[in-house]
Amino acid sequence: MKRWRFEFHASYEEPQYVDAETEEQAWAVFRKNWDGYIESAKAAERDNIDEIPRIDDKTKIREVGLEALKWSPRPTCCDQINKIERFRDGPIISLNVSRYNETTGDYFSLIDPHWVIRKTGDEISFCPFCGTKLPEVERMEEPPQPLWDGDDDYCGTCDERNMCCECNPPWAAYRIKK
Ligand SMILES: [Zn+2]
Ligand SMILES: [Zn+2]
Repeated sequence: MKRWRFEFHASYEEPQYVDAETEEQAWAVFRKNWDGYIESAKAAERDNIDEIPRIDDKTKIREVGLEALKWSPRPTCCDQINKIERFRDGPIISLNVSRYNETTGDYFSLIDPHWVIRKTGDEISFCPFCGTKLPEVERMEEPPQPLWDGDDDYCGTCDERNMCCECNPPWAAYRIKK
């Protein structure tokens, strides 16, 4: 399954996301959802119906990264290691494969993959909860697309600034070695 992002010409409107195999299917789902949304706004007699943007030829679509790959790959030694930190959005430990820009928190330039405690950036090789050695990873031959590929400013895949890039992150190209 792929994930698609729709952007209205009216920039105040939040982008919409649809999961579908092809761009054509994504458009079909998006149109149906949006028609339904406008219908229910009419039924509720909302007073801003005219302000809800309509789908037109300025509505943009692009493929983005899957939410499920945001923190991939994941070790499976115990439950705790995959617990999501409540205030930090993401697991305590993750695979790092890129250098960070300290100021923006963006990733740039690839480095050798290693497991880190996200909060401190400290490299670790054993699970701090159950003591199991953390798994080795390997790069996939065909990583999930679209995949971030850029420098410290821009992603070359989507041409957005890194902070706005919604491609799969560089660590999504790695899997646990069997
Ligand atoms: Zn563990
Ligand atoms: Zn991108």
